[in-house]
Amino acid sequence: MHFFDYRGNKLYAEGVSIEKIIKEVGTPCYIYSHKTLVRHYHAFDDAFSSVPHLICYSVKANSNIAVLNTFIKEGSGVDIVSGGELFRALKAGANPKKIVYSGVGKREDEIEYALKTGILMFNVESPEELRAINKIAGRLKKKANFAIRVNPDVDPKTHPYISTGLKKNKFGIETKEALKEYVYAKNNLKNVVPIGVDCHIGSQITQLSPFVDAIKKTKNLIAMLRKQGIDIKYLDMGGGLGITYDKEAPPHPSRYGKVVCDETKGLGLTLIFEPGRAMVGNAGILAAKVLYTKQGTKKNFIIVDAGMNDLARPSLYGSYHAIKPVVKNNSRGEIIADVVGPICESGDFFAKDRELPAFKSGDLMAIMSAGAYGFSMSSNYNSRPRACEVMVNGNIFSVIRERETYKDLVKGERVIKAKELRSFCFYS
Ligand SMILES: *Cc1c(COP(=O)(O)O)cnc(C)c1O
Repeated sequence: MHFFDYRGNKLYAEGVSIEKIIKEVGTPCYIYSHKTLVRHYHAFDDAFSSVPHLICYSVKANSNIAVLNTFIKEGSGVDIVSGGELFRALKAGANPKKIVYSGVGKREDEIEYALKTGILMFNVESPEELRAINKIAGRLKKKANFAIRVNPDVDPKTHPYISTGLKKNKFGIETKEALKEYVYAKNNLKNVVPIGVDCHIGSQITQLSPFVDAIKKTKNLIAMLRKQGIDIKYLDMGGGLGITYDKEAPPHPSRYGKVVCDETKGLGLTLIFEPGRAMVGNAGILAAKVLYTKQGTKKNFIIVDAGMNDLARPSLYGSYHAIKPVVKNNSRGEIIADVVGPICESGDFFAKDRELPAFKSGDLMAIMSAGAYGFSMSSNYNSRPRACEVMVNGNIFSVIRERETYKDLVKGERVIKAKELRSFCFYS
């Protein structure tokens, strides 16, 4: 459900026409709908209203501080995977007591930053990491709450690049070993406190059964831990709920909520969720302008001014994004074409052999469902300044990140002076 709809022949974000936004800010440009973000947060939150729970929005899906602030104001916590994301979350007003920190490669300075901030807990992904946290916490004279991210070895039935809960994936600790770690920590690591079990099995999951399998396995672990006198209060189910890009029919958060609540009934746990994609995916579009069209002997190409540096998902995962005209023109007819960007890579495409309106040079298009893993994955490849981001709220819109300039491209870079070069030669 989202608020990008046609009024007459023009595409609107809530009460503002996309054409109007583009006239002011140019293309390529990410446009988010505030109302959709709020709606998605509450769809998730309401799904668990009958049990103690905490929604920790996964910052990496869309890290703009205006987006974070929108969720935080509704009561959301955040799931972070780096010191940079912690910085963003705090800038956006996050409550430290609602921050969970995931990721396999936390650096010492990042762990220290999180401890000083006083986050709710670390989701620990390896025995060495747990020892590192224990040591740093000791040095700072703090206690670090933690959950172990267990790898339950369930198949989330999604793209291999975004499945994380299989034995062959780098994430988490296998259940048996996790049990040993908790016991070891209880007896030997004095500066860490086990408070939860964490489990995130992948992304863009469109069925409920993988979640149920994962809960069953973590439930067993929690029972064993409690037997050992380890008081587990939180079950963190991670994120991963899918959205509709094309014809997928993922369960509504309320169905997901019902199944999770049924499975965890009577355990006396506070449930934590880390949804990313389900919160922001359909709340954003990437608007682009058609530069040229070109007829090859085998294919038609529509060349636009957005590229894989702006939205990497099609090149990374071959993923589908619906493409719509910003202004419909019914006299144009349809063609089958590839929509491609300006980048010097054959992987730079948004659609392949897609039936589309016969776009012409100067036309505007909306690449739909681009709110998650869109801007946050964007880069400066081919020295392209990153796109601007805009938030629409009712009848107004605000730029929430300015378009980068050429100057931004070389920020922090410098040419080596002749004098320095000579001294290099001297010493080597
Ligand atoms: C990426 C990630 C999420 C969010 O996943 P979505 O599929 O976007 O909901 C949640 N938790 C962890 C640990 C992640 O790595």
